[in-house]
Amino acid sequence: MTSLQRLKREFYAARIWIGLGVIAPVGMLATSGFMLLDLRQDAWERAQLTSRNLLQVLEADIARNVELFDLSIQAAVDNLRAPGVAEVSPALRQLILFDRAATARDIGVMIILDENGDVVADLDAVPPRKGNYADRDYFQAHKARAGLGLFIGHPLVSRLTGERMLPFSRRITKPDGAFGGVVMGSMKLSYFTRLFSQIDLGREGAINLYLRDGTRVMRQPYTEADIGANIAGAATFKGFVRERSGSLIETSVRDSVERQYTFTQIGALPLILNVALATGAIDADWRIKALVIGAIVLALCCLTIALSLLFGRELRRRTVMQAELERLSLTDALTRLPNRRAFEETGTRAWEAARRGGEPLSLLIVDADHFKRFNDRYGHQVGDAVLQGLARHLSASVHRPPDLVCRVGGEEFAVLLPDTDQVGALRIAERIHAEIAKLAIGAACIGAGAITVSVGLASCVAADTALADLYRRADEALYRAKAGGRNRTSCADPGRPSPSSTGALRLIGTP
Ligand code: GH3
Ligand code: MG
Ligand code: MG
Repeated sequence: MTSLQRLKREFYAARIWIGLGVIAPVGMLATSGFMLLDLRQDAWERAQLTSRNLLQVLEADIARNVELFDLSIQAAVDNLRAPGVAEVSPALRQLILFDRAATARDIGVMIILDENGDVVADLDAVPPRKGNYADRDYFQAHKARAGLGLFIGHPLVSRLTGERMLPFSRRITKPDGAFGGVVMGSMKLSYFTRLFSQIDLGREGAINLYLRDGTRVMRQPYTEADIGANIAGAATFKGFVRERSGSLIETSVRDSVERQYTFTQIGALPLILNVALATGAIDADWRIKALVIGAIVLALCCLTIALSLLFGRELRRRTVMQAELERLSLTDALTRLPNRRAFEETGTRAWEAARRGGEPLSLLIVDADHFKRFNDRYGHQVGDAVLQGLARHLSASVHRPPDLVCRVGGEEFAVLLPDTDQVGALRIAERIHAEIAKLAIGAACIGAGAITVSVGLASCVAADTALADLYRRADEALYRAKAGGRNRTSCADPGRPSPSSTGALRLIGTP
């Protein structure tokens, strides 16, 4: 592999490293993205599970309490019909009618109203506290319709105690089927407040209890104005009614906060309970994690990319430096011509090409005549200038791209001429003599013609001579040219067909 090919390969390797250095962070980012999304999914599933468990516990508590209430109310309705109850003393009658009411927790007021709405029995007072409740929604509902069963009215403020309550009631039906009044037991709303307040639902979380008609019975966190508000038209409530139980994400009409609502209807009762978690709060923990992990991964990715780019730049710089070093190692510093090493590398390739192609190959060894004298007379610097001039004029003597002019020694040059036979090489040698005859060093007053060279020429066909032998033959020819008086060309191998049968050949100009 040539040094150029090696350098190219290194350059592409650098590009591959840079590519990997960019692709790897992209992969890291994608993986972290998937992980974070998975974490978020987990956070949401956990939130929903918590809400569902909470909902079940609350629903069970409320359902059990309402059942106890209903049992007390039903007992009062049944006991009213018991024979002789109307005749007993008011105190005993009160005991008979409300015997089970004591078992119901959080009972506010329990009264029995006659068909006009007047109080006829009162759990807390004998004789009963006076009052007429014909205007209450539960009274009017039972009066208007038989068979309502347990009716839950709108939350109200008790006229007897001033407390907020939720009225549960059943109809009293006279033996003839006519409306005979209502038994009403109200549950203190404080029961719900106490039940819900034990639960922490995080920032902007809420628990709501609604009647089926959309009236809010209780909300945690508690605000007076929320009680009794109707949200029947809200998208959230429509969802609660439509699906009975489940989960949905909606924006609250009350405060415009987006929440995840987990809801259920309480048993067969017209009550809807929901646990609502703010979506922002569900995401809050995850968002902090995502920010921290994201920032770290991003920083690492940026670092990796930066390091890859730096690494790539360094590799490229090294490749360029190596190319420069390679070039310098093949170049003669004084004349800028290829040096002996370059001659050996290129010469070998040219020799192999000649062998493959069956072509001729010629070599000229050019040596400055009496060069030592220039050094001695004009100094080393002028000697160097002469060598540079020789290099220029030698380069001007060849024109084909594969021709190679090298400085192979002190004042010795080699001219390699691929695809050139002895005749062609002799022509080049003549051109060399003619070119060098023009060389003058003005600064040292060395005029044209003062500098001459001797040339040793050797040729081969289809590389029938090893390169070293070709060089040796050219060198021997050079020796003969020197011995023959210098400033001339001597051709090796007198046996080979050539213009000169003696081997020492004409000469351009005379010394
Ligand atoms: P001949 O005609 O037989 O070749 O004689 P010559 O004086 O050219 O040959 P010789 O080998 O006796 O001397 C070569 C001289 O070239 C000796 C050396 O000081 C000089 N020389 C070699 N390299 C350099 C160089 O880089 N710069 C200079 N200025 N002189 C050099
Ligand atoms: Mg010499
Ligand atoms: Mg010499």
